[in-house]
This record gives sequence, C-alpha cells and structure tokens, in this order.
Amino acid sequence: MTQKQTATAMNGDADATMNGGGDADRALPFQVDALEVRGRVVSLGPAIDAILARHDYPDPVKVLLGEACVMAALLATSLKDVSRFILQAQTDGPVSMLVADIRLPGQMRATASCDAAAVTALAQAGTADAAALLGKGTLAMTIEQGHGGQRYQGFVPLDHESLEEAAHTYFRQSEQIPTRIRMAVSEMFDRDEDGKARHQWRAGGIIGQFMPEAGDRIRHRDLPAGDTPEDGPEDLQGADFEADDDAWVEAAALIETVEDHELTDPAISPERLLFRLFHERGVRVFKPVRLEDHCTCSRARIEKVLDQMDAVEIADAAIDGEIEVRCEFCGLRYHFDPDALPGATDGDEKHGLSQDGSLTNL
Ligand SMILES: [Zn+2]
Repeated sequence: MTQKQTATAMNGDADATMNGGGDADRALPFQVDALEVRGRVVSLGPAIDAILARHDYPDPVKVLLGEACVMAALLATSLKDVSRFILQAQTDGPVSMLVADIRLPGQMRATASCDAAAVTALAQAGTADAAALLGKGTLAMTIEQGHGGQRYQGFVPLDHESLEEAAHTYFRQSEQIPTRIRMAVSEMFDRDEDGKARHQWRAGGIIGQFMPEAGDRIRHRDLPAGDTPEDGPEDLQGADFEADDDAWVEAAALIETVEDHELTDPAISPERLLFRLFHERGVRVFKPVRLEDHCTCSRARIEKVLDQMDAVEIADAAIDGEIEVRCEFCGLRYHFDPDALPGATDGDEKHGLSQDGSLTNL
C-alpha cells in the first residue's frame, strides 16, 4: 500500500474538530506504525439504512445482512486493481443466503434469502443469533479484476458461528495474516424536528492486521501442551496460526475492547474511535473511501440474459403478454415485450432465466 502521502497524523486537536454525525458511509484506512498494524474503520449510516429498509426481512436477518455489508466494505476497500468484491454466504440455516456486492470504489448493494417464519420463531424464542440463523454452510469471497476480468474466489466454512468468527478463521487459515475484526449493526431510534419518532439502521466495523516489515515477526503460536504432534512439522493449515509478537498482542487486545455502540453511534466518528484505541502509540489516517447505496442493475444487463432464452422459456416467463424481471438487490422492476426478444422466433436450445424469474447477477 502506498498511502503515506495522504496520511494525517492524529492528535487530540484533530479529534476535537471531527464529529461523526454528518459523514458516515465511508471506510477510513489507518496505520499504527509503532505496532506495525494497518486497518480500516467502516462507518455506515444512510447507505445501510437505505439498503436494509428496502427489504422486508425480519430484523435478525437485517442485522446479519448489515454485518455482511460491513465485512465486505472492510475487506474490499483494501484491494488494489479490483473492480468488484462479492461476499456470499450459502447455508442450510433459516438464512440460506446473504450477498453483499461492492463495485469498487464504493457502490454497495445486498440481498438475502430467508425462511421468515423460521427466523421469527427463533427470534421469539430469543435464540436468533448468527449461529442459529446461518447453521452450516460456506462463506465465499469473490474478487473480480477489471470489468468482466479474472475472478478469484476464497472460501471458508461456516459452522454455527458468526460472520466475525468466520472472518477470523479465513485470515488465520487462508491468508495467515494476524487479524482482528469487530462488527456491529443496530437500529437507532430518535425524533425528528416535529417530534415524530423515526428509526435508522447504522452499522460499523474495524479491522486491524499485523503487517510487520520483518515477516518473521509473525510466528506460529505455541500449541497447548499435549496437542503438539510428536513427529513431523506442524500443519499450519487449520492450526491456531497467530502471532505472539508483543506489538500484535497489544493491538489485538485494543481492538477487542471496541464495543458495539462505538461502531454504530453517529456521535462517535471513526477518527474518535481510533484516537481512543491508539492515541498512546500514535495513529495515522488516510484518505477515506466513500461508500454508497447503489445498485448496478440495468435494462441492458437484463436484456443480455433474456437474449439467451429460447421460445419455450420466453413463453413460460411471460405473464399477460409481458415479462417482468425484478432486481433482487434494489427491487426495481423491468418490463419486456416477449415478442421482441431474439429467442421468440427461433427454436434454438439456449440457457436462460431461472425458473422463478429471479436474477442475482444483474
Ligand atoms: Zn437493482
């Protein structure tokens, strides 16, 4: 990363001039040189409120989807030469799918599939936590380079755990970078100027990673006595890979002290949070990345998919003489004249739209 030219050293004065109220929806990169730690703080206000308010999910699903958006923003905003980052959970739980999709630098959209009745039953029983909602499955991270360019995917199993825990597993096992992530989503209630009650979703997160100049400072933490295999080298994959370097132990402990409200309260800016955590060591922040609620679906993209349909598929999809396609991310409805599609007049076998007329990749 070459961010030094835009760094701002933080001190008490800088903190005093910043308030978090009006400048949410951004990822703020930071660096703590004394601890060799880099990271980002993500703060989401109007953007996450618009995304979550648009969908008619039970609240526990909105919280999970909000976390998926925060996690995608925390991870995507560090990537260079990447045009798109998609975080997708697929599970056997009541929330069978979560998708947070970011077009870099910061256009976000998200959607979920859930069994609303099952989620509501868990919520009423007081057990609608991430472990119960997600169950067992896979968390996939897809990186797309350039427009329509090379795709890379990383996977981590989900086994009755939170997205935060799955992220830690991913960085420990796949990337082998000592990492701490904290994320939170909450619904804030207040009153507008006329005294009318209003609510707004807020979300936030912090990621800190130990990235020392000297790579050998990342060492394999000693396994507890009895677990160490007698013969052969320890298998790093899946082992408790972690750095026991003093600097990282200190940074990780500090990040773990971050409380949920510090990530979602509009009065606590990312700068203020970083100052609270790292002021004794000195923390520098870099140019923030603006995040926004923006869906990239378009008539042209959908047309490309519809153009692949054959006459039978077109007939199946048409209702009352038109084909309606609803974007699962933003809810926009697009209407097409079936007779105008190229497949309407030829009988070629082609791949087409899924049975329910839904498209996730618009
Ligand atoms: Zn859309």
